[in-house]
Amino acid sequence: MVETYAGEILKQVREELKRAIPSPKFELLILPLRIAEISGNTVTLLATGDKHIEWLRDEFWSELTRAFSLALGGSAELNLVVDPSAGEKRTANADAAQPLLQALPRASRAVARPLLNPRFTFENFVVGSSNQFCASAAKAVAERPGYAYNPLFIYSDVGLGKTHLLHAIGHRVMEAYPDYRVIYVTSEKFTSDFIEKVRTGRMNEFHQRYRQCDLLLIDDIQFIANKVETQMEFFHTFMTLVDGGKQIAISSDSPPQDLKNIESRLLSRFGSGLLVDLEPPAVETRMAILAKKAELEGISISPEVSAFIAESVPTNIRELEGALIRLLAFCDFSGTKPTLEIARRVLSDFVKGQHGRRFLSMEQIIEAVCEVFRVSPNLIMGRDRRKKLAEARMIIMYLGRENTNLTLAQIGEEVGGRDHSTVSHGVRKIAQAMDEDPYLKQMVQQVIRKLS
Ligand code: ADP
Ligand code: MG
Repeated sequence: MVETYAGEILKQVREELKRAIPSPKFELLILPLRIAEISGNTVTLLATGDKHIEWLRDEFWSELTRAFSLALGGSAELNLVVDPSAGEKRTANADAAQPLLQALPRASRAVARPLLNPRFTFENFVVGSSNQFCASAAKAVAERPGYAYNPLFIYSDVGLGKTHLLHAIGHRVMEAYPDYRVIYVTSEKFTSDFIEKVRTGRMNEFHQRYRQCDLLLIDDIQFIANKVETQMEFFHTFMTLVDGGKQIAISSDSPPQDLKNIESRLLSRFGSGLLVDLEPPAVETRMAILAKKAELEGISISPEVSAFIAESVPTNIRELEGALIRLLAFCDFSGTKPTLEIARRVLSDFVKGQHGRRFLSMEQIIEAVCEVFRVSPNLIMGRDRRKKLAEARMIIMYLGRENTNLTLAQIGEEVGGRDHSTVSHGVRKIAQAMDEDPYLKQMVQQVIRKLS
């Protein structure tokens, strides 16, 4: 059968949600959904009845939106309508499902249950030197919420486990304190929730939800940048919770001092608890993560295959998992075993497309950048802030990040003893400039050509 585009999207969404939603609810609420239309990133979904829509809105709206965004490759807008062709038959189905649904624990009743990824637990979080401190801090917070560090502020580049740790805190707290109200939101969701409640004059509900919880987990706080009113609201939420001895844990793509366009009184509060960062894991930890992941999938991979993948994907753990999943899918599909040879073949373009070039040394990178920029390495190591030098340094940091397996702190060390956040800032700045500044991009490409 030829898959239609909508069919393909629906398939991907189901696969994604199957992992996130407990199975009876998945079968009752997600499987019956049909796509009526996809226009750009706007999707119209057909539900079996009003009740069906209500349940979806109440419980799985953010998951559904996220899954469609992933499948469509951009942020999705969802519309839910009752399937007009379903008529009585469908309504009857929805009604038949009611007693079953009522019997299941419902998130919005009694103590609100946030929807956490069941796999994002402490048990599934592999600890190595790059994340040990952060993991311990997260555990300490989960064991005695409101006591240890408040707020806990976790920052790192993407794909290094921030969301995983926030969910793990949520799981642990719900186990140990079943009557606690735990909320997990991204700062984007917090913002849209706020706007929606202001629009509909239901600020009371908003306050009740966010100011009367015991644990607030707020992911990717950087997205409240420039949202002045949301920031003000968040500040009051924050103060109310902390003053009441309630726990807050925040994740961010950079440390507070590097966050742009967020009120300084908020930034200083962010820094008033404990700041911890996640670094890219070393190769041994990456291998352990692969082993864990394979174990969760119920298969085993040989150490040499795991080493090959771990070396090919040096930084982002999400990509590391992506590589493994791709290999396993291929083997499943073709009825082969994940040998080293198959791994090489299946992952060859993945590896090339990612950061899978052979590793370089910092000396090589510094030398090449100095040649292209016609500056001396001594000036690079020094404190001279002329634009050309600053730019060359940041390019060295950027290329160091892409082509070595050093941590940000180690890279900083090699570039005249600069600290982690300077490197993190430099890397981001160049990554951004590569999109916006053709001249700089050309310079970087010249360096890369020299290096290859
Ligand atoms: P972030 O929020 O920092 O972008 P995530 O928390 O989404 O990153 O992590 C990306 C993926 O990597 C997730 O699937 C997560 O389970 C996995 N992951 C990250 N760190 C670890 C770890 N230490 N052990 C096991 N899996 C990890
Ligand atoms: Mg995340």
